[in-house]
Amino acid sequence: MQAAVIRQKFLRFFEDHGHQVVPSAPIVPAGDPTLLFTAAGMVQFKDVFLGLEQRSYRRAVSVQKCMRAGGKHNDLDQVGVTARHQTFFEMLGNFSFGDYFKEEAIRLAWGFLLGELGLSPDVLWVTVFETDDEAYQLWQEVAGVSPDRIVRLGAHDNFWAMGDTGPCGPCSEIYVDRGPEHACGPHCGLGQCECDRFTEIWNLVFMQYDRDAEGELMPLPRPSIDTGMGLDRVAAYMQGVDSNFETDLFRPIIAAIEKLSGASYAPGPEGMPFRVIADHIRAITFLLAEGVSFSNEGRGYVMRRILRRAMRFGMMLGFEEPFLYQLVPQVGRVMGEAYPEVVNGEDSIQALVQQEEQRFLSTLSAGLRVLEQKLEEIPAGGVLSGADAFQLYDTFGFPLDLTRDAALERGIGVDEAAFDQLMAEQRERARQNRARMAELLPEQAASEFLGYETLVLNDEPLQALYVERD
Ligand code: ATP
Ligand code: MG
Ligand code: MG
Ligand code: MG
Repeated sequence: MQAAVIRQKFLRFFEDHGHQVVPSAPIVPAGDPTLLFTAAGMVQFKDVFLGLEQRSYRRAVSVQKCMRAGGKHNDLDQVGVTARHQTFFEMLGNFSFGDYFKEEAIRLAWGFLLGELGLSPDVLWVTVFETDDEAYQLWQEVAGVSPDRIVRLGAHDNFWAMGDTGPCGPCSEIYVDRGPEHACGPHCGLGQCECDRFTEIWNLVFMQYDRDAEGELMPLPRPSIDTGMGLDRVAAYMQGVDSNFETDLFRPIIAAIEKLSGASYAPGPEGMPFRVIADHIRAITFLLAEGVSFSNEGRGYVMRRILRRAMRFGMMLGFEEPFLYQLVPQVGRVMGEAYPEVVNGEDSIQALVQQEEQRFLSTLSAGLRVLEQKLEEIPAGGVLSGADAFQLYDTFGFPLDLTRDAALERGIGVDEAAFDQLMAEQRERARQNRARMAELLPEQAASEFLGYETLVLNDEPLQALYVERD
C-alpha cells in the first residue's frame, strides 16, 4: 500500500465519520515565536483546544508536515540510527474539540487500522497511562484487545501536556510488533527497551484536565482528543519493509543518491549516510519551500546545521563537490503531488542549496584538515578538548554534532561541558554587545531581537538561541 493511498484512506475515513478535512499548516508556525517548528498535528489547533478560538466544526482530520530537529522535540541524532525517526515527517491526525472522547477515539483508531489498513489485531499492542483504568477497560471492551497486550506506562511516555499549565491528560499509544526476529535481546519488550521490534505508530491523547498554577488537575468540562500517527512508520509496516527509509517515500531518493555516488545502499550501519542524506534533503527542501533562509540564527541555523551534517555524510560516499542540490527534483517527484510547494519552488530551492553547499565547502576542507590533525594526536578512548571543538565551531563553522560524529568514529569523545562553557561566555559577550547597541540605537536593536527565553535548543551553539523575526 503506497503512502499516497494511506494518506487518502485516512482523510476519507475520518471525513466519513464527520471530521472536517483541514490542510497541513506550515512547518514554521504562523505567529508563534515560542515554537521553532510544528512538531505535531495539534499545533495549528492549539487555540481551539484552549477555547480561545471557535471553529465551525468540532471534529477535524489532517495530514501535517512536521519537523523535529530542534527545541523541545529534537530527533536529529536518531536519524539514520533507528528505523523509525526522521527530522521531517508527516503526521496523520484526528481531533475532537470537546466532541467525542476516549471511547469513540479508540473505536475510530481501531476501526481504521483493522478495517481500512487490514492490520491483524495479533500484531497490535497498546499502552495506557499507569492510572488510566478507564482506557485500560475501554481497549478491552471497545476494541477487544486482550489485557496481556495492554501495557501501563508512566508519565514520561503516557502523559501529555501542552505546557506547565493548561490542557493535559493521559495518552494511549498503539504499537506494531514487527516480530521476534527483530528482538534486541532476551529482555526485549514494549516499555523495556528502545529497539525497533515494537514500533509506536499512533498516539491518542485524551485531553481531560486543566492544570492550574499550583499543579492541581481540574477536570475539563468538555474533554478533547488529539491524535498523531506517523505516515512513514505506517507505510513501512504496510509495505513489509524494515525501516521508514525503505518505503516508497524514501526509496526513490535513496536511489538518486546511489546513482549520483555510484555506491549502493545497504540496511544497517553502512547505509547510514544514505538515510541521513535522504532525510536531510527532504527537510531542507520543505523548509526552503516555506521561505526559511540559511542563517546563523534560529530556524535558519537549524537548517544550516542539517545541511552541513548531510554534507559530511556525503563525504563518506565520496562527494567532494556540491551534490545535495541535485536531489531536490527527486524530492519533488516523490512529494510534489501532496505538497506542490516543493515543486513550484524547485529552481530557487536548488540554487539556494547549491550556494550554501559551496559556501560550506570553502571553509570545510580547511576545517576538516585541522580536525583530522587534532584527532590524529589523540589516542582512541581519549577526549578532544572543548577549546578545540570551540575553535572548529567559531573559525570553521563546524556545528558541535559534526565534530562529535567525526570524533566518535575514532573512538574519541568531546569535552562538551568545556565547549558549552565557552559557548556561554561567547553568548554573554554577544549579549553585552547587544545591550550596548540597544543603548546607542534603541529602535534597531529592539526590532531584531526577540529574546533568549522564548527558545531553548538542546545543544545548539549561541546563535541558535535567537529567533529571527519572521
Ligand atoms: P518515539 O517514542 O518513537 O520517538 P514519540 O512518542 O516521540 O515517538 P509522538 O510525539 O507520540 O512520538 O508523535 C506521534 C506519532 O508521530 C508517533 O507515534 C510516530 O508514529 C510519529 N513520529 C514521532 N516522531 C517521529 C519521527 N522523528 N519520525 C517519524 N515519525 C515520527
Ligand atoms: Mg520521540
Ligand atoms: Mg513514544
Ligand atoms: Mg508517542
